[in-house]
Amino acid sequence: MRRPIVVGNWKMNMLISTSNKWVEEFIKTSKLVGSFDLVIAPPFTSLSAVRKSAEGTKIQLAGQNMASELEGAQTGEVSAIMLRDAGCEYVILGHSERRQHYSESDEIINRKILLACENQLNIIFCIGETIEDRNKGQANKVLEGQLLGGLDGLIEDQLNSVCIAYEPIWAIGTGHTANPNQVQDVHSFIRNWCKKSFGKNIAEASRILYGGSVDSQNSPSLMSQPDVDGLLVGGASLRSKSFYDIIKSSFED
Ligand code: PEP
Repeated sequence: MRRPIVVGNWKMNMLISTSNKWVEEFIKTSKLVGSFDLVIAPPFTSLSAVRKSAEGTKIQLAGQNMASELEGAQTGEVSAIMLRDAGCEYVILGHSERRQHYSESDEIINRKILLACENQLNIIFCIGETIEDRNKGQANKVLEGQLLGGLDGLIEDQLNSVCIAYEPIWAIGTGHTANPNQVQDVHSFIRNWCKKSFGKNIAEASRILYGGSVDSQNSPSLMSQPDVDGLLVGGASLRSKSFYDIIKSSFED
């Protein structure tokens, strides 16, 4: 049985003060019962504050990115150890915004994934195709390339700490969610790929999340798909109320 998970990615939004306010409101108004994991990825500058204000709740923390080296002369970077030190149990890697705007290759992402594993961080590994890829009928091929590149060299123990997030680029921040059947088809393709590559046990245990314009209207039908194990939420996680509405409609009703 795979434990559902919902992740809020705040991206480059929220100051320390607004992060604290978000947590305060969220705790006050949310009934966080139910067996699902709840993860927030604040900007690096808010991690410590959120760790403190969310203490004693089920909220877990994720870094939005991580360096591909462990320490040293890497000005501006944040390492796996630093994320652990700031209270993170997860890290988001391979987000399409990192791939597109910061030229992160599959090779770099793979290095980061291996480093995250070595440092006991769970990974939310993002993959996704462009609309051009999809229109050309190349979506699965592109996803397979990202899976092969990103997960290269991982062994069973390491794969257990990886969640795969399917985030079609055309659905991110656009208001155009992929329809649930389309999402199920892709998730089933991903699970079959895992089975072929790593075996039945890993494939059945792997959590596969969907991300791309998720809101409280579309989340129940997405979560009702057999191979959708969780949600990665960007824009709608910025307000505690809309994020809680997603949780409520997906996991608590
Ligand atoms: C994201 O960027 O990971 C994301 C899913 O964004 P949004 O929910 O805003 O589409």
